[in-house]
Amino acid sequence: MICVSIGRTRHKMALAEHRALADRGAQLVELRVDWLSRTPDINRLLADRPTPVVITCRRGSDKGRWGGDEDQRQTILRSAIVGGADYVDIEDDIAKAIPRYGDTQRIISHHNFDETPDDLEEIYQGMCDLDPDIIKLVTMANNPQDSVRLLKLVASAEIPTIGFCMGELGLASRLLCVKYGSPFTYATFSSERTLAPGQLSFEEMNRTYHFDRVGSDTRIFGVLGDPVGHSLSPLIHNAAFADSGINALYLPFRVPSDGLEQTLESFEWLGIDGYSVTIPHKESVAELADIRDETVEHLGAANTLLRTPDGAWTATNTDLPAAIDSLRAALEEDSSTKSLKGRKCLVLGAGGAARAVAGGLVAADAAVTVSGRTRQRASDLAAELVCQETGWENRGAQFADILINCTPVGMHPGVDESPFQPQWLGDNTLVFDTVYNPENTLLIKQARERGCPTISGIEMFVRQAALQFERFTGQMAPLEVMREALRRGISAVR
Ligand code: NAP
Repeated sequence: MICVSIGRTRHKMALAEHRALADRGAQLVELRVDWLSRTPDINRLLADRPTPVVITCRRGSDKGRWGGDEDQRQTILRSAIVGGADYVDIEDDIAKAIPRYGDTQRIISHHNFDETPDDLEEIYQGMCDLDPDIIKLVTMANNPQDSVRLLKLVASAEIPTIGFCMGELGLASRLLCVKYGSPFTYATFSSERTLAPGQLSFEEMNRTYHFDRVGSDTRIFGVLGDPVGHSLSPLIHNAAFADSGINALYLPFRVPSDGLEQTLESFEWLGIDGYSVTIPHKESVAELADIRDETVEHLGAANTLLRTPDGAWTATNTDLPAAIDSLRAALEEDSSTKSLKGRKCLVLGAGGAARAVAGGLVAADAAVTVSGRTRQRASDLAAELVCQETGWENRGAQFADILINCTPVGMHPGVDESPFQPQWLGDNTLVFDTVYNPENTLLIKQARERGCPTISGIEMFVRQAALQFERFTGQMAPLEVMREALRRGISAVR
């Protein structure tokens, strides 16, 4: 279950938001009465409430907005209990001053906005002695391992315990705590008004994560990267799980560049079955894996980690087959053959995407030329893959059957840029832009105007995710559902 926090300065607005949330299916709402600009009228807030409520009045030292004195604050908490609130949030240091009364359940809470302290267990034991119905222990994650420490505590708790980490590094724990036994987790009414660092909105919980499915049997997958805050992978993988009726959750795990090995070790406890891997970990994960498939051996980079039945990690790369499948599908539509053999391909860029695309094309016996703005990087890549290289300033002089943009040029917000002049395009050059935000880049638009066939980066992105989904689950991926979810996500982030 999700408890949605409401923080408004006016009673009228708090009541309206509460009603709106109930209409959208919220089952529990936290009223942050410290946000109200006037003295909280608890009876007004509780009368005719459309869902059960938690009354919380956070003081400044806990990052709340309460401006009155402490006696007044405790009086408000007592009056919420007398008024019959379903739950009242009581900080551990004042718990002894707020006695139990009636049916109101006591949430004994402790927040640490700086760290996940070493004495977590001691703090927790102290909270157990404060007559709690529910314990809420929330700390700041300063590394990915902090979340695991808190979730272990939740899993072993004898009293119902809500425990998660704040901050981007702790985001996954906000969802995972329910799998490990928390009676509910917290979300905010709107992503524009978060009440704590890293908090997700009720809509994100439902739309991106399909949170209502999460329980003790839920399998866990995720993406390892830094940054991952704007990754669209959770949106499309969770949409695919929900559509296929698979009880699984896909999460973003922000892992700093120097923390991969330690994170993978500590995440073993979470029993994660598979990862997508993105920048900056694609190369290091290939090194760390127990087993590397042929593509990873060839490219030295992986975008997927799969757990084998005996617990080993296999690294694979779905970017390469996704790019080649996208090209073959477009060739098939446009001509009688989908063979890439002998086709003249010009690959722009010399980074990770170029490596996967050019590597796949070389393996398919295409005639590949790489062109990058940093000449040395492009010529090193060409030497490694055994293909041609041309200077960036000469890229327009190359005749190409297929042009593939593997640079970020044209990506949002630089949508008025293109890495290739339209007059350089041949009459029937197949133009593949790996950029997927926007779907119709300037390069794609100009190519269409010249009558050239095109492939957008959406195709490759969806196909690499679909191949991961198939490896994760052993089931066919719902390609159209994933494509639509990606399009929805792209329009939402702009
Ligand atoms: P990367 O490893 O950082 O490589 C980027 C390449 O683009 C480098 O060669 C870089 O040149 C070049 N570049 C950057 N800015 C440029 C500019 N203004 N003009 C000319 N060249 C420029 O990144 P990546 O992982 O390969 O990703 C590149 C792009 O591919 C991403 O932005 C994304 O849009 C796309 N992509 C799409 C998918 C998909 O599934 N559709 C998957 C992966 C990537 P230097 O060598 O000089 O730095």
